[in-house]
Amino acid sequence: MKIGLFGGSFDPVHLGHLFVARAAREEAGLARLFFIPAAQSPFKPEAQPAPAAERLRWLRLALAGDTTAEVDDQEIRRGGPSYTIDTVRAYARTYPAAELFYLIGADQTAQLRLWREAGELARQVQFLVIPRPGDGPAELAAPFSGRVLRGVPLGVSSSEIRARLKAGLPVEHLTPPAVAEALANNRLYL
Ligand code: ATP
Repeated sequence: MKIGLFGGSFDPVHLGHLFVARAAREEAGLARLFFIPAAQSPFKPEAQPAPAAERLRWLRLALAGDTTAEVDDQEIRRGGPSYTIDTVRAYARTYPAAELFYLIGADQTAQLRLWREAGELARQVQFLVIPRPGDGPAELAAPFSGRVLRGVPLGVSSSEIRARLKAGLPVEHLTPPAVAEALANNRLYL
């Protein structure tokens, strides 16, 4: 069984994320796909993301009715900096026979070698890279293996959504309607 793992801050989740998920499922033939929000990104130690409970709630709203994607809150429950290798080891224990794939946007490929226990991570998973507008070529360098998906680059980011909300601009075209409504009903990013 091919299992896809999609980690990120999801602060908030947006159409780019959903697009990545669809491309990975279709092009790599994933049987299951887990969205795994981080408690704290090790690369953004001073960042103060929206509360984990909210980021989880938005993800669940975004994926409601989607039978091929699930939300996994293990990194939130663990707390502290979220290291992908810990999460990947947990999946390897739970699904010993599965082939594990880790989804990333092209902006992440250059810093993969800085991820904790990068060599071990490279042995445990194959990466699925989705091109992202504004980012250079998305090739994976050794020791990492996997493939670059075709997809169709979608220029949406969480930072753009946060900036627009701060400026009082609409975000309905950037995130699913239920998430846009939830964002409009709180003032987290003001
Ligand atoms: P921010 O703007 O706050 O940096 P983000 O939009 O990159 O956030 P994250 O939650 O940090 O969102 O991203 C999680 C993963 O999804 C990362 O691997 C990122 O590269 C990827 N990703 C996010 N948006 C896109 C997109 N539009 N196209 C391809 N990959 C994306």
